[in-house]
Amino acid sequence: MKQYNLLSLQRLNAPYAHELKEAAARVIDSGWYLRGKETEAFESEMAAYLGTPHVVGVANGLDALRLIFKAYMAMGRLQPGDEVIVPANTFIASVLAITDNNLTPIFVEPAVATHNLDTELLQQAITPRTRAILVVHLYGQVCWDNTLQEAARRHNLLIIEDNAQALGARTPDGKRTGTLGDAAGTSFYPGKNLGALGDAGMVTTHDEQLAQHIRAMANYGGSQRYVYQHQGLNSRIDELQAAMLLVKLPYLDCENTRRSEIAQLYNTLVDNPHITLPQQPLAAQAHVWHQYIVRTPHREKFMQHMQQCGIETGIHYPIPPHKQEAYKEYNHLALPITEQLANEVVSLPIAPYLTDDDIHYIANAINQFSI
Ligand SMILES: *Cc1c(COP(=O)(O)O)cnc(C)c1O
Repeated sequence: MKQYNLLSLQRLNAPYAHELKEAAARVIDSGWYLRGKETEAFESEMAAYLGTPHVVGVANGLDALRLIFKAYMAMGRLQPGDEVIVPANTFIASVLAITDNNLTPIFVEPAVATHNLDTELLQQAITPRTRAILVVHLYGQVCWDNTLQEAARRHNLLIIEDNAQALGARTPDGKRTGTLGDAAGTSFYPGKNLGALGDAGMVTTHDEQLAQHIRAMANYGGSQRYVYQHQGLNSRIDELQAAMLLVKLPYLDCENTRRSEIAQLYNTLVDNPHITLPQQPLAAQAHVWHQYIVRTPHREKFMQHMQQCGIETGIHYPIPPHKQEAYKEYNHLALPITEQLANEVVSLPIAPYLTDDDIHYIANAINQFSI
């Protein structure tokens, strides 16, 4: 019987292995491992790819988001206790970046159709203490509309994007995620659409002053050696990861297109009354399918059935942040849409190396599921 992992990093990187090894050897032989030519080249290639002026390579995606809030605090744009609106339906790192800076997360429910922040509900969550919105392009789908931008403009709110899952996605008018708001954090965790061979991340912004603060904040709090303006972090991308990302960046759009083809194929082939499929995005480019998520009230049985067919599935995510032990102070909140999604979502394999035959096989297994 065929066997499918949810994601094989080995298969994902195999087509680039030769180039990656050459680039790694170049870094090893250079004797220069931080803040060097690879980082510089990566930041400028990424700026050109996104069409944004400032890219700051950092250690990981969570740090990218933490650093954005930390820099805004240092600039006086945010104060401890300020409220930041965040989707209740997200990976915990989005919330960690807020609470790590003594800011207050205000959880807003998702729209069931997109799993993304419900921008109508968002307006009701705004109070006189609200200062920012952290939008998450969950599963790779752009979360950006007029309602969101209008609300931010009217209340003078910062918009920060959690772009960890959506690098390469574009709004219907062609702008890339990571360039839409005031600042964005992106992750290059190995399983993300552009994955490093270890941890890495970046901050992107149009705001030069913010970029300078982030650079200093990520370098112990100073822009000059042994002179510090802020109590910072050590959070820099290393030369090896920058070199790996330089190899893989030119293939990102092609891989995202393949993810999109696979999603369309699933949408066409899967026909099972117990399985709810994801909606088609507004425009093909507005979703880069970091995950392909279906829903079923019979999740345990469905996942077991798939396992018996040799197909690994996953759950992104089984426990929402407000129900985690780490956030006891929010455990009492009732966010029923988020909680229902957490109980019903199942992730299917969608790696770009999968062939049409693979997807036919997996879709067939899904169609054979009965309760
Ligand atoms: C992966 C991820 C992060 C964190 O990125 P790391 O590089 O793993 O720290 C943040 N937010 C979302 C939505 C993510 O998926």
